Amino acid sequence: MLPQPPKHIVSLTPYIPGKPIEELERELGISPIIKLASNENPLGMSPKALKAAEKAIHICPRYPDGSGFVLKLALSRALNVDMTSITLGNGSNDVLELIIRTFARPGDEIIFWQYAFAAYPLLVQAANAKAVVIPAPHWQQDLEAALKAISSQTRLILLANPNNPTGTYTPEARLLKCIQKVPPEVLIVVDEAYHEYQTEGDYQTALGWIDKHPNLIVTRTFSKAYGLAGLRVGYAVSHPRVADFLNRVRQPFNVNSVAQAAAIAALEDQAFVKKSVELNQKGMQQLIEGLNALGLDFIPSVGNFLTIDFKKPAMSIYEKLLKKGVIVRPLANYGMSNHLRVSIGTMEENAVFLKALN
Ligand SMILES: *Cc1c(COP(=O)(O)O)cnc(C)c1O
Repeated sequence: MLPQPPKHIVSLTPYIPGKPIEELERELGISPIIKLASNENPLGMSPKALKAAEKAIHICPRYPDGSGFVLKLALSRALNVDMTSITLGNGSNDVLELIIRTFARPGDEIIFWQYAFAAYPLLVQAANAKAVVIPAPHWQQDLEAALKAISSQTRLILLANPNNPTGTYTPEARLLKCIQKVPPEVLIVVDEAYHEYQTEGDYQTALGWIDKHPNLIVTRTFSKAYGLAGLRVGYAVSHPRVADFLNRVRQPFNVNSVAQAAAIAALEDQAFVKKSVELNQKGMQQLIEGLNALGLDFIPSVGNFLTIDFKKPAMSIYEKLLKKGVIVRPLANYGMSNHLRVSIGTMEENAVFLKALN
């Protein structure tokens, strides 16, 4: 008999990513195919980031800078935080795993909410920690219920703001009130993967509260608005003591040279980010109008995606869209089998999606 991993690994189900374009091309033999399934940037990446990436391929015979010095310096300037408070990751998924591996012992409780990002339950289970799932009535994470659920076994709270796949967010006042009530020995992670898209007046990044709350960690990513999903770069900002622990567990070369170079250039090109956010706003408007015209319900979203409520199992609609060359995201694994999530694309892609949906 083959060696068996522990039970919590045997019962783990792999993360289901959005269907890759190439896979659907192979299956259907049709193109073009549009993918609106993984909240990627429809404009691609900054041309400056692309140039930097192409140049950096030449330094790849050498190991990357294991400390990510230049990227951390650029981030520390852009975010106005100390370099020692930054931890780099192979995407923010890597950072989230690092946080859990560093701080959670087997059996420790980790709190997150219903309809949380699908990576959370998987990361928690992989660490043999115990998931404590808090209700999110009307797609709003119940923060008070989470505070009540904190026990002596609780190590971590994972909160995405805004949340994926619902696209909802927790306003500044409520978030701060919650952070203030988290006991100092419990870490609270605010996952700000969609931070760059935020324009609501009552939204606030949690970054500025770390000084006062050393148990607070903010994670961000270059996968969404910066358009570097395939290069895998994310980071955490935390109290330097927390970052020090994370960096002890972190693999020394978890962010490769090309990714580091591209991220530095992407960070400098804020005009590209601005353009991306503006396109997202226009595309969101276009989709909302199109869905209204079709009489379809959706969850109001502040992200670069929209989750549609078909009021009946949506898998067959997902499959019909696939046959028309449009990839969106089914959400049955989130307990949302009546919903499909569509990422905001270019105006042309959005039009193709709406036509196919019709
Ligand atoms: C997309 C996403 C991430 C980013 O993942 P990366 O590993 O950085 O690509 C993190 N959190 C949430 C909630 C997301 O939707």
